[in-house]
Amino acid sequence: MQTCDADLIIIGAGPAGLTAAQYGARANLRTLVFEQITPGGQALTIDTLENYPGNVGTRDAEGKPLAPPKSGYDFSQDLHRQALDFGARFIAAQVETLKTEGDLFTITTEHGETKQAIALILATGASHRTLGVPGEAQFTGRGVSYCATCDGPFFRNKKIVVAGGGDAACDEAQYLSRLSPRVVLVHRRDRFRAQDSLVERVRNNPRIEVRLNTIIREIRGEQTLSSLILEHSDNTGTGTGQTYQENADAVFVFVGTVPQTSLVPGLKKDAAGYIVTDQRMESSRPGLFAAGDVRSSPFRQVVVAAAEGAIAAHCAAEYIEAWKTGRRPVQGPGAARE
Ligand code: NAP
Repeated sequence: MQTCDADLIIIGAGPAGLTAAQYGARANLRTLVFEQITPGGQALTIDTLENYPGNVGTRDAEGKPLAPPKSGYDFSQDLHRQALDFGARFIAAQVETLKTEGDLFTITTEHGETKQAIALILATGASHRTLGVPGEAQFTGRGVSYCATCDGPFFRNKKIVVAGGGDAACDEAQYLSRLSPRVVLVHRRDRFRAQDSLVERVRNNPRIEVRLNTIIREIRGEQTLSSLILEHSDNTGTGTGQTYQENADAVFVFVGTVPQTSLVPGLKKDAAGYIVTDQRMESSRPGLFAAGDVRSSPFRQVVVAAAEGAIAAHCAAEYIEAWKTGRRPVQGPGAARE
């Protein structure tokens, strides 16, 4: 039998990859995790992870809150520690190529190191989408930001515009309104995509002004951002189509995400480019699993990513066991296969 560097390689250490690492290691798999920056992924940017089941903070005997729910950073640190404690190994490096040799998976890192494994879990997540308007790239880091917890404190009591109409825009507008009383949430359509409970909170927040049917056309400034050109869109017949200048100190952009799939060009994907798997999280390539925000899913949440990571590791363990004993690998209903 061929010898490999690991039974299981996991690429990405957000909630999906970290949970998969813990389950893989607990199943006695030699588990190797690659993460290019620091464990946590996008969860690191969550100020208070209030919707993760059980993460309610601490309370006194009368039930009064003593400490808030854990932040995404603290939560990620705990997941990382748990995976390490169970024996997963971590390598801080970007994976540059992923190849299949026979039925084994070989990765090469930015440092030219190669590692081979029997099964692989892709948990590379998704990155933020940009607006793609003039001035956005020029003022990134000088007023344009994609992370409220990272950059929000620089704009305390300043005028802040938030772009987007999904959960992220509503959540982050709420967070930024704790730093500044002048937050303007602009969304291109006449209704939000976000969950009703989040929209209601935004609408009831006197520190947030909501402007629907509003499109950011340009970002302007000198050394730093100083204004935006906004259009009162008439897409829905309720706008005027007129443009105007809005003074602002910062714009926080939350207009969706793009899946990180450059390592797997040949896999089956959905129309938006997310990896299609069966219910075992197995992709169209046997032995290659996907979990978390990179996977085609109707609901992207930390709890969903963690659960998918657990399923992927469990099913990868079954696949590896079958591979080692020369049995036919377990397969799901084959929904993801070509
Ligand atoms: P999303 O749900 O895809 O929403 C993206 C928003 O940006 C939409 O309102 C969209 O407008 C708008 N948009 C897209 N491209 C645009 C452009 N070029 N210019 C202006 N606006 C644009 O993305 P998300 O809010 O980042 O959320 C991603 C996933 O993470 C979702 O599954 C979400 O549920 C999850 N999430 C959950 C929480 C939570 O539970 N607290 C927090 C954050 C994220 P249209 O509506 O017109 O398409």
